[in-house]
Amino acid sequence: MFANCLKSARHNKFGSLARFESTLVIAEHNNETLTPITQAVLSAAKKIGGDITVLVAGTKCGPAAAALCKANGISKVLVAESDAFKGFTPESMTPLILATHKQFNFSHIMAGGSAFGKALIPRVAAKLDVSPVSDVINIKSSDTFVRPIYAGNALQTVKVKDSIKVVTVRGTSFEALPLEGGNASTEPAPAGEYKSNLIEFIKQELSKSDRPELTSASVVVSGGRGLKSGDNFKLIYSLADKLNAAVGASRAAVDAGYVPNDMQVGQTGKIVAPDLYIAVGISGAIQHLAGMKDSKTIVAINKDPEAPIFQVADYGLVADLFKAVPELTDKL
Ligand SMILES: Cc1cc2nc3c(=O)[nH]c(=O)nc-3n(C[C@H](O)[C@H](O)[C@H](O)COP(=O)(O)OP(=O)(O)OC[C@H]3O[C@@H](n4cnc5c(N)ncnc54)[C@H](O)[C@@H]3O)c2cc1C
Repeated sequence: MFANCLKSARHNKFGSLARFESTLVIAEHNNETLTPITQAVLSAAKKIGGDITVLVAGTKCGPAAAALCKANGISKVLVAESDAFKGFTPESMTPLILATHKQFNFSHIMAGGSAFGKALIPRVAAKLDVSPVSDVINIKSSDTFVRPIYAGNALQTVKVKDSIKVVTVRGTSFEALPLEGGNASTEPAPAGEYKSNLIEFIKQELSKSDRPELTSASVVVSGGRGLKSGDNFKLIYSLADKLNAAVGASRAAVDAGYVPNDMQVGQTGKIVAPDLYIAVGISGAIQHLAGMKDSKTIVAINKDPEAPIFQVADYGLVADLFKAVPELTDKL
């Protein structure tokens, strides 16, 4: 037993022994391809040290599992295929995760801080009677995590005393782990009847777009209430087309019905950190900044020189967007 314990000790990034750490990463995917946040969660799991197991649950999720096997530093990929996992509902995923944890006794369970992870992880934590730690942006040690609070105005460092740490990870705060260099094997996840009587998945309607995905795009152009109508958002789309950019929006623009709510950037929308973020007709309310202020370069176009967005902008243009945006698009 003692020899086994010593064998499972490993050096981690913090220069100390990460003894007995073993992390279960819950993969987010559409059966065919991985959602980019999964690779960020894998990087976060690597910072913990110890073994990494990935759980892939879906209907015909072989391609997603195969992609994960290639990631460097993963011990194994557990695969669960069942109609119960249609729609990846937390009600059906949770019992699978609990059964997997019961078999392997992980020290950490991690998922991305996306809509999927935000719905799933609190449920898992409640069932395990531990506190979830949400939206982790840095890992100080295997039990100490940094997370933003007050819409990103303060950073909180929490030391978790629970024996199992149940965590969501902010995707933009960790590099994507490349899916290469590894050779993990797949194994079946614990079998069981995971269909939930609590919920029935009927269908999902995904908005189709040829544009890059908002949370992983390197350029994002967002529009706000200053656009004044959904029709006028065509100015934003034209500019975005020139830059191969994703299009985002403020909550005011979403609430006014200019654009669908999956485009919302901010505290209650998506968190983005592209190389270039262009905010057009957006005032820069704290809740909007919470979703984009980690962007590498921020450009703001606003007719009000006092707009708070200029405090975080690297480049600011005080101008009427209806004049400035078409000119900029033409020049590009
Ligand atoms: C709990 C909570 C959560 C929230 N979550 C989010 C969130 O996730 N994301 C989010 O965005 N907001 C969120 N909000 C709302 C947030 O507080 C702001 O109300 C919202 O961000 C404002 O959107 P806006 O900047 O588009 O609109 P406004 O604040 O109305 O700003 C419009 C801007 O457009 C400029 N403008 C107008 N006309 C022109 C023109 N012709 N040319 C150039 N500029 C022009 C104006 O000068 C102004 O600065 C949240 C609020 C709460 C309370």
